[in-house]
Amino acid sequence: MEKESQSVIRNSQPPNPAKNGGAGGGDSEIQNWTVELHTHTSYSPDCLVTPEQLVAACRRKGIDRVAITDHNAIAGALAAQQIAPDLVIVGEEIKTDCGEIIAYFLSEWVPPYLPVREAIARVRAQGGVVGVSHPCDRYRREAMGADRLLPIIDLVDALEVFNARCVHPADNDRARAIAQERGKLMFAGSDAHTVSELGQATVRMPPFDSPQSFLNSLAKAEIHARLSSPLVHFASTYAKLVKRIACR
Ligand SMILES: [Zn+2]
Repeated sequence: MEKESQSVIRNSQPPNPAKNGGAGGGDSEIQNWTVELHTHTSYSPDCLVTPEQLVAACRRKGIDRVAITDHNAIAGALAAQQIAPDLVIVGEEIKTDCGEIIAYFLSEWVPPYLPVREAIARVRAQGGVVGVSHPCDRYRREAMGADRLLPIIDLVDALEVFNARCVHPADNDRARAIAQERGKLMFAGSDAHTVSELGQATVRMPPFDSPQSFLNSLAKAEIHARLSSPLVHFASTYAKLVKRIACR
């Protein structure tokens, strides 16, 4: 598994010790963190991993920070943050009228189905960071798509240019091309719905301690990512079925 081909993508800004220090400055001595920016827990309808299991797996796999980005929910991320405040970033993958966005550093839940500009404004109002997950994934109904992304691209900080669950690699490439053309920061996400997917797509970046220093660090980040097996999608379908049966 480990030998599978891995993509390495760098955000355009070269290391510049004179400016934009993350938490700490002195870039050359800083040990990069391994950061997971797209994960789910059992608070998502298509995932069975509990916050406790996710925290334990991240510790085991040497992940320094994990953003928990459940579908339209932050309760699982908040529960995980209680267990591991040093590890967890509270995020949310938010469905809007234009498809999904992904938000980081939240303290308050943002409801789904809002107009996209309003959803972004609600993230900004609490000091959060705004990204777009799998923007060009042709197989996902929730993906924003280039047509809907481009009119609002100036309102977002970063694009997910590698989603490990993307079935068609060209869709990741398209997202990356848009990010590069428009000067947007790039990040990757495992989009992990199972413990085994954690660590598939990580961002190696200097330490950060706030949304602003996160963005500064992301500008210096290196993405290490490989696609997950298409079989992982069955795990999500299975999780949905289990939950549907449990609700009866
Ligand atoms: Zn997701």
